[in-house]
Amino acid sequence: MSEELICITCPIGCHLSIERLPEGKLAVSGNRCPRGIKYANEELLNPKRVVSATAAIDYSGIEHEESLAEIARIPVRTDAAYPKEGVNEVLAAIYALKVKLPIKRGTILLADFKGSGVNVIAARSLGLEALA
Ligand code: SF4
Repeated sequence: MSEELICITCPIGCHLSIERLPEGKLAVSGNRCPRGIKYANEELLNPKRVVSATAAIDYSGIEHEESLAEIARIPVRTDAAYPKEGVNEVLAAIYALKVKLPIKRGTILLADFKGSGVNVIAARSLGLEALA
């Protein structure tokens, strides 16, 4: 039985039909270019996702508005796609973070997560004035 995927590599969105061959390889059809084959192989054999979430802010030693402190969080994301089966581990590590302010967009908060080469970074800059 074939599996169906829509290639999201470009706006054409080819409908891919994929057969799993006995030796673990895939036979892909419906692609208009070779990138569809690469997409199908990545998505079915080694799926990855960029992880986006928000992290808590470390308020220790900072004067701030108490009501803001409960809602203010900083958006963070991975700087590359991470293996899909490990996304929950990345999220757990992000939710355990306490980020010190001020911080610049792109600052690495978790380096080389589990030896993957993927970092968790601040997705925006945030200064202490945000807490005033
Ligand atoms: S197979 Fe090629 S043409 Fe089709 S959606 Fe993917 S990248 Fe675009």
